[in-house]
Amino acid sequence: MSVSVSAEVSSLLSELVQGGFIGEEEFEFCEERALSTLTTFRTGGPAAVLSPKSQKAFQILLCALRERKIPYFVLGNGSNVIAPDEGYRGVILSTLLWKNLELAGDRIIASSGVSLTALALFAQKNALTGMEFFYGIPGSVGGAVFMNAGAYGGECKSILESVCFLSASGRIETLPVSELEMGYRTSIFEKNEGIILSAVFRLQKGDAAEIRRTMEDLMSRRVEKQPLDYPSAGSTFKRCEGRFTAQMIDEAGLKGARIGGAMVSKKHAGFVINYDSASSEDIFRLIELVRKTIFEKEGIHIQCEVRTIR
Ligand SMILES: Cc1cc2nc3c(=O)[nH]c(=O)nc-3n(C[C@H](O)[C@H](O)[C@H](O)COP(=O)(O)OP(=O)(O)OC[C@H]3O[C@@H](n4cnc5c(N)ncnc54)[C@H](O)[C@@H]3O)c2cc1C
Repeated sequence: MSVSVSAEVSSLLSELVQGGFIGEEEFEFCEERALSTLTTFRTGGPAAVLSPKSQKAFQILLCALRERKIPYFVLGNGSNVIAPDEGYRGVILSTLLWKNLELAGDRIIASSGVSLTALALFAQKNALTGMEFFYGIPGSVGGAVFMNAGAYGGECKSILESVCFLSASGRIETLPVSELEMGYRTSIFEKNEGIILSAVFRLQKGDAAEIRRTMEDLMSRRVEKQPLDYPSAGSTFKRCEGRFTAQMIDEAGLKGARIGGAMVSKKHAGFVINYDSASSEDIFRLIELVRKTIFEKEGIHIQCEVRTIR
């Protein structure tokens, strides 16, 4: 399975290094790694994992993978995905070794692998306000742009100025936020196959101590309301027009519902959690049970927010 892809990618990497196209130090490659170690649900089988360390490395490696028609899936911090139990028949392109943070006046330029918590702390240290809501979202910059992550009244879109990405044709392009089609948990990257390389955030001058207090307040609200002691991918379902999804799930009596090791959290009905050594199949089946039950009771199709690695 992933072994043959691993062998193919290994030989491709050797060719690129020997041909002088890329240095060995510009990426890391792991022939087989359990996806359960790369996702916050802590489920998923084996996959080959390639981690470029620079913009140039992303470009070279991506073009080479595309040329050889090797399937790939771009993964940030794995906090909004479910990985198949049987693993992934392609290469996971991880952004986590591409971490750069730069300050330019009231702007921050962050590469895709930077964690949102590190980014929010960087803004706070530089007395810049506007991204306090990122603190505690366990994702990366790339994942936050892709999903238009948001919380407590803030959303990525409102502080984003522009995004630099690798287009489907392998070119490096920059687009302003107004052209990124960012909506509720969606962006243009869902359909344009672009790989987000870096993002420019525009903030305002604020008071570092006040910013810190806001961040801590938001974090304590998370701790109070969310089942953070179990692996999950956060809110499993999208918001519905005019209804609170978690409330509908609660009212349908689904809190605590279980399939295998997956459970609808008793603390927050909007979270499916890995309660006890769940498989991804358990999670998929429980999500379907919730969707079916809500449709039967309310006539509403609730949509899953979490994406599947495929
Ligand atoms: C406990 C918990 C709490 C959470 N709270 C919130 C919350 O308050 N608000 C919220 O919005 N979300 C929340 N989430 C969900 C998640 O953290 C966010 O959606 C986050 O932005 C995902 O980032 P990631 O790096 O983990 O993305 P991943 O899960 O790695 O990927 C998500 C999607 O983005 C794509 N992607 C990732 N990086 C790139 C890139 N560089 N280029 C192109 N595509 C890319 C992937 O292919 C995938 O389709 C929570 C999750 C957990 C576990």
